[in-house]
Amino acid sequence: MASTLTCHMEKDCAGTVTYIDNKGYVYCTVHGCMRRSIRPCRRLTPAELERLENGLTISYTPKAVDEPSVAPFADMPESAKRNRALDRWRKS
Ligand SMILES: [Zn+2]
Repeated sequence: MASTLTCHMEKDCAGTVTYIDNKGYVYCTVHGCMRRSIRPCRRLTPAELERLENGLTISYTPKAVDEPSVAPFADMPESAKRNRALDRWRKS
């Protein structure tokens, strides 16, 4: 299926859109790399491309979702959590 997104650099550019600049214009890989030398420009993620093709908007600034949002002790094994609780109980 052909993408509905078209490169903004050249009217008839047939390149697949993979880049976005900080003004929200999208570009193919070649033109995105060229654009990057004069304006902040970054690669689009597959999820963002999908959103754009569905007519949805995305923000240039990477979403906070990309940041590791790990709850404290989330990666701690259950046994370690139990030991911590046990230590606290012993001291009280
Ligand atoms: Zn292009």
